[in-house]
Amino acid sequence: MVLAELGGSISRALQQMSSATVIDEKVLNECLNEITRALLQSDVQFKLVRDMQTNIKKIVNLDDLAAGHNKRKIIQQAIFNELCKMLDPGKPSFVPKKGKTSVVMFVGLQGSGKTTTCTKYAYYHQKKGWKPALVCADTFRAGAFDQLKQNATKAKIPFYGSYMESDPVKIAVEGVERFKKENCDLIIVDTSGRHKQEAALFEEMRQVSEATKPDLVIFVMDSSIGQAAFDQALAFKQSVSVGAVIVTKMDGHAKGGGALSAVAATKSPVIFFGTGEHMDEFEVFDVKPFVSRLLGMGDWSGFMDKIQEVVPMDQQPELLQKLSEGHFTLRIMYEQFQNLLKMGPIGQVFSMLPGFSAELMPKGREKESQAKIKRYMTMMDSMTNEGN
Ligand code: GDP
Repeated sequence: MVLAELGGSISRALQQMSSATVIDEKVLNECLNEITRALLQSDVQFKLVRDMQTNIKKIVNLDDLAAGHNKRKIIQQAIFNELCKMLDPGKPSFVPKKGKTSVVMFVGLQGSGKTTTCTKYAYYHQKKGWKPALVCADTFRAGAFDQLKQNATKAKIPFYGSYMESDPVKIAVEGVERFKKENCDLIIVDTSGRHKQEAALFEEMRQVSEATKPDLVIFVMDSSIGQAAFDQALAFKQSVSVGAVIVTKMDGHAKGGGALSAVAATKSPVIFFGTGEHMDEFEVFDVKPFVSRLLGMGDWSGFMDKIQEVVPMDQQPELLQKLSEGHFTLRIMYEQFQNLLKMGPIGQVFSMLPGFSAELMPKGREKESQAKIKRYMTMMDSMTNEGN
């Protein structure tokens, strides 16, 4: 995942700054230039990057900081806050409530991963106790209904669509009505995507939206579209009231910076991201843990959630107590390595640990990572108690 490279470049820039003897204007500028370069290379829109740099320089006024101030921490915090700001539009998206009918409409270009994501979204909520249903209002792409049907059947989610009817508005309305009667609380409408931004696509989307009155419109964006993300997201936002973004294919070679641009264009938050073709390769997007992981600062809350999944219940309180107090010793690490070897995906868990960047454990190279863990354990085996 190339986003990991961005994280790697940013944390390297921060490390370089940290190792400088004196933090002066020159060191700060070098660090910011490095980060700017990394963000631009990751397809983040130029204006966003420039604004970020200006803001950080405004916040970190080295002349005004007294000698006792920890300048490194202040700079790191300012960079963290600015990256969070880029990803946080300031207002949360609509959240469907269990037991109360919500209609969620998916929009996006063809090939963005819209149909796959509809099922992932339905499956995610189904596992958490919702009663989802899928409606295929994509009458444009041959095979769209079959694909949705296949996915829905696999996940045991009710679906609606038609091989004969060519009017997407009619299908959408019929599907929504049917599932309302069946007391489904999360009705998901998949719409047509076209090859490029065509007027007809936007008109059709507007009509489906007017007829089904969705509580939330989700814009699905392929993370590899790069610098085109801003304009594309904006075009969708101008036609229907996009309220959230899902970024797909974050597992591929995409640079991922487009996500930041999509948030800026739609003023809507990223709520999930796709990390593979399978139904459960879908993760909740949380700004602060995401940026923490990006900067190699770890994600303690995510890590603790994972630990609770694998550590035997009777050992959990003591471990969680130690971790929440910040006591992360080599002995704990060793024990958790043992647990980690029992579960996957290792790369994801490792990126939550401070100091372990996702580069160290890249996705798709789990075997290698596993061998590395075993090597670390052997090294630890040779240590004395003092070493621990
Ligand atoms: P649609 O035309 O927007 O409905 O796109 P599809 O749902 O048909 O997806 C297009 C292709 O992208 C399919 O081959 C999917 O399996 C694939 N895809 C969707 N989401 C992801 C993802 O998060 N990661 C990867 N690697 N592939 C994905």
